[in-house]
Parts: sequence; structure tokens; C-alpha cells
Amino acid sequence: MNTNKPPVVTSSPSTVVAYDETHFGNAVVPPIFQNSLFVFESFADMADTYAGKKVRPVYSRGLNPTVRAFEEKIAKLEKTEDALGFASGMAAISASVLSVVKPGDRIVAVEHLYPDAYRFFEMMLKDLNVTVDYVDGRDIDAIDKALPGAKLLYLESPTSWTFHVHDIAKLCEIARKHGAISMIDNSWASPIFQQPATLGCDVVIHSASKYLGGHSDVVAGVVAASNDFIGRLRGQILPYLGSKLSAFDAWLLLRGLRTLPARMREHQRSGLAIAQKLADHPEVVAVYHPTLGRNLPDGLTGSSGLFSFEFSPRVNIPLFCDALGIFKIGVSWGGHESLVVPALVSRAQVGGPNSALRFGVPENLVRLHIGLEDADDLWSDLSAAIDAAL
Ligand SMILES: *Cc1c(COP(=O)(O)O)cnc(C)c1O
Repeated sequence: MNTNKPPVVTSSPSTVVAYDETHFGNAVVPPIFQNSLFVFESFADMADTYAGKKVRPVYSRGLNPTVRAFEEKIAKLEKTEDALGFASGMAAISASVLSVVKPGDRIVAVEHLYPDAYRFFEMMLKDLNVTVDYVDGRDIDAIDKALPGAKLLYLESPTSWTFHVHDIAKLCEIARKHGAISMIDNSWASPIFQQPATLGCDVVIHSASKYLGGHSDVVAGVVAASNDFIGRLRGQILPYLGSKLSAFDAWLLLRGLRTLPARMREHQRSGLAIAQKLADHPEVVAVYHPTLGRNLPDGLTGSSGLFSFEFSPRVNIPLFCDALGIFKIGVSWGGHESLVVPALVSRAQVGGPNSALRFGVPENLVRLHIGLEDADDLWSDLSAAIDAAL
């Protein structure tokens, strides 16, 4: 077998199969195709490829076999026809939204979006004369009333910071009734605990920088959807925005995916244990954990390690943060390490008092990511830091 040859791909662009284990000496770990171009075997090979008779890697901004292996796994996990990798979660979000809206269109989005998705809507889409209405996703009637005439229903469940959980199946059914495309950011649950396409959602987006990668060593994104939607993104949007996932990052993601189910089980177990201890703590006013003490909503089969809680005014939040030892102060989440972000700081970043991002986020809110360290050690760290901050 000639292991130097790139695999020849023969299906249509939206269903490309660019990676086949048997092409690479049955390597248990896929190789990294760390190259920009793939040469042709002959004039006819090139002519057939350009004529669309054959699909094969030509240039890595288009098709790269390592990236393709990652995309195929995500499509299987999300139970969609296809998937497409991006250089970041925001690249996946902006490309997906831009592929749907035109000037004059309207989007209905749920409140408490990921802050940079909100800024993309407010700063870039506004300039393109696309309007966005934010509605509480828990209020089915309000969504139903807002949707007529909208092109897109943009969802995130659970939401950022407040961790509101929505009835995805119902919301997507309403979107379909009104002729709107439904799109969801599924980064929090990962496909292990929520597969929105099985609930009727048209487009599923991930920041792969979080749980999919799982090791805080990659920034990446991915979109999972139908052949039609992904084919259009792959053919008409991504090549020109150019926000391509790199082969090395795809390789890191493939490694991360191997432990995704085991990691998610552990984030869930430790996250619930610590959320319960916080709920029982006298200095904690409320815990915002999507599944703690509740029946799991339809379609959500588990919980990850990211949630928030509200301190009583007696706790000095800066002192609390500085007293932590195992927990580090830092944004992002989804890796091994446990992290804390006080809303005091992030609220200051999001603009004036009327910013939609501040709305409904209490001053004394603290967000935790429960990583993969020992849960007892994590609780000792938290409870000692609370004592030090009183
Ligand atoms: C981090 C994050 C994003 C953005 O992803 P990047 O990979 O950082 O671009 C989008 N949505 C959610 C919920 C996130 O946490």
C-alpha cells in the first residue's frame, strides 16, 4: 500500500469522505495532514476535480483529511448528515448566521446569549441592517409572538451566566411553523448530553474550544446540520470568510473526543456534588445549575461542569477569588482545570447599565467551571475561600 498518497474522495462536496483508516497503515491515531496543498497525479486528475467529477483534497482551506475526520465524528455524535469545522466557535456562529440573513432581515434570539455572540449581533449585524429581538426563551408564547416575519431563531440552552433551560423541541417546532430556521449553540451540554437535531433543530453549533477539545489547548468551532446547509457553508461561505479549522487543531480535537463521554460523566458528577454543597451553604443565596434538584427537561440527558451561584452580600467577592488555591481565575471552560469568573468583573466589561447582557445577572453572581480535579479537594478549596472572605 502506498501510504503517501492522499485518499481520493469520490462523493459530492457535502458528503465528502476524505479520511479512511485503512489508507494510513491502519494507524490507530489519524495522521496530521500538516500541508497546504495536495498535488494531482495527472492533467486528467486535475481537470476531473475542477469539473466536479471527483472530490479530493486540493488545498487545505477547502478540504483537509485530518479536519474531515473530525467533521465526520461530530456529524455522527450530533446525528446530523454532515458537519463543518471552523477556526473558532465565533467563526462557526458568524458564518452560520451570515449564511442565512440578508440586509433587512430579522432574527429572534433568546436572552443571555454567549456575550461575544451578542456583540456580533449588536455590532456587526446592526451595520448590515439586520435586526435582532431578544426574548426570554422560557416564554413559549413570547417566542411565538416574536417569530412571524423572522428569518432565524437563534437559541442557546442552557443560557450563558443564568443557565436558563429551554424546551428546544417546542421552540424549534414553532420556528418551523413560522418558516424560520432554528440554530442552537450546544457548547454547554456537548452532544453527550444533548443532541438538538434529534429535537428538530436545524443547525447545531459548538465552540469546540470547550468540552469537545477538553484540554484548554485549542480554539476551534464546528457546525452540524443537513447536507444542504453544510454544503452551502462549505461551498459558498467558509472559503471566502476563510475561517478554516487547522489540521493540527483538528488532530487535538480528535484526541479530545476519545475521552469526551468519560470526561462529561466526571464533570457532571463533581459539578452536581459541588452545586449541592453550595446550595446548602448559609452564605449562598441561589444556585443556577440547569439540572440540580429538577427533573431533566426533555432532550437534556445530563449536566456539565459549568454553573453559577449568588453569594450573600456578606461575602467579599474579590477576597474570595484571591483566597482560592485549586480554582484559578479565568475565562473559558471545558478543560481539566477548575475556574472561577465573578460577574462583578464581566458585567463591567459589557457596557452601560442598559446592556442586555447585564439584564438579570445579579451583582453577586459567580460562575464556576468544575474541572477534573478531585471533588473533595475542590470543595475544601471553595469552603475555605468563603470563610476567608467573610
Ligand atoms: C466560548 C464560547 C463560544 C465562542 O467560542 P470560541 O471558540 O471562543 O470562539 C460560543 N458559545 C459559547 C457558549 C461559549 O462558551
